[in-house]
Amino acid sequence: MADSQPTDTDDESEATLRTPIVAVLGHVDHGKTSLLDEIRGSAVTEGESGAITQHIGATAVPLDVISEIAGELVDPTDFDLPGLLFIDTPGHHSFSTLRSRGGALADIAILVVDVNDGFQPQTLEAVDILARTQTPFIVAANKIDTVPGWNPNDHAPTQQTIDAQTDRVERDLNENLYELIGDLSDNDFSADMYWRVQDFQNNIGVVPVSAETGEGIPDLLTVMMGLSQRYMKEEMAVDVNGPAAGTVLEVTDTQGFGTTVDAIIYDGTIRADDEIVVGGVEGPIVTEVRALLRPRPLEEIRTEGQFEQVDAVAAADGIKIAAPDLDDAMAGAPIRVVGDRDVDDVIEEVQAELADIAVQTGEEGVVVKADTLGSLEALASTLEAEEIPIVRAEVGDIAPRDVRVAETANEVKHRTILGFGVETLDDASDLAEQEGVRIFDHDVIYRLVEEYEEYVEERERAQQ
Ligand code: GDP
Repeated sequence: MADSQPTDTDDESEATLRTPIVAVLGHVDHGKTSLLDEIRGSAVTEGESGAITQHIGATAVPLDVISEIAGELVDPTDFDLPGLLFIDTPGHHSFSTLRSRGGALADIAILVVDVNDGFQPQTLEAVDILARTQTPFIVAANKIDTVPGWNPNDHAPTQQTIDAQTDRVERDLNENLYELIGDLSDNDFSADMYWRVQDFQNNIGVVPVSAETGEGIPDLLTVMMGLSQRYMKEEMAVDVNGPAAGTVLEVTDTQGFGTTVDAIIYDGTIRADDEIVVGGVEGPIVTEVRALLRPRPLEEIRTEGQFEQVDAVAAADGIKIAAPDLDDAMAGAPIRVVGDRDVDDVIEEVQAELADIAVQTGEEGVVVKADTLGSLEALASTLEAEEIPIVRAEVGDIAPRDVRVAETANEVKHRTILGFGVETLDDASDLAEQEGVRIFDHDVIYRLVEEYEEYVEERERAQQ
């Protein structure tokens, strides 16, 4: 976290601008991981005055480091924000896991598009999720070093490069983005953004970058700071001393601590002995924080162990939480510190957030299972868009009782279970075979839906 941010000793209650949470999305192989690595790498190289700190699930790049990377583009005195917090796991799967009630947890996103490959199915899927969650984003037109005419010794790309990437990305943007986003953006966007990074006029800017050479990274960070400062102030004004709210990123086993959760805290402060409520597979779990763990710097791990315990953590931050009874905790589920409130009220709040997503329609339709609340939500919404009805949607592996639900469908095409990122339990496969229930599973949403639609079409053709 930036040094300017209070942690546990500040007793005054006041709204502070927390660090904007940034997610990286895009099609597979378009360079999401490389881009994050490059940003982290630049931050480590440049970060002499304010080193980047170790976090769970995210990398915080403080404002002073951003301004060192961006040079004259970012004057730290122009910004009230402490920096940027990048979620380490790229992809829209993790993005949709990161949800807070009524929207996405990430404040801002980078949509990575390979300039040679243009918009691909997962790019469109990502745009769809970003539009639905109303998340401001910018497009990183990546791999410009591979465009003919690229001149790595010259900071500015040659005109040929600009033309090449403009043709490709801008055409795709025009064809796809306008249609998908509609009136979300009333600004004309174009690759000209590169030359106008200082006026932050556009909702959707295109920044040519190379995750390989680092070209364009300063501009990307500059535009992101500008966007955050301009659009996100309201959401990011949090009472850092209030009770924490967060989201489970992952349920993990941590040596010496048993089952723990990796979480992103987006509001308030969590302390080492707080009572918390965590969303679980069977409903809210009430427990007490045993330890808050932060990774140690590499050079200390050998002598000191992998994690250090901290007393308190303020938003926005990624932290590992050790507490009893977390075995049932669920990725994508909310975490709340109870604080002065009545614990039943907090349980109700968590329950309501969980119920928002687990769907039980009672109508004729397919059964849907997913590994996290976020992916369940993303899948359910894709199915809705495709007008595929759902009878029940839940988090968890495909179990015999799901087959029992599916087999009651009248129409054969609904005697189906769609699983995203989940396992099928052995007795469930056996039972499905016995009862004539089809199970589709995949870890890419559009593929899963495509496979199911192909199956339905085939069946219909066969019946004609
Ligand atoms: P992800 O699947 O979106 O996370 O993509 P990766 O970051 O794993 O990148 C996929 C491949 O593209 C890897 O082989 C990277 O080295 C390569 N790559 C990523 N960014 C760039 C870039 O800017 N220039 C070049 N030349 N290669 C890149």
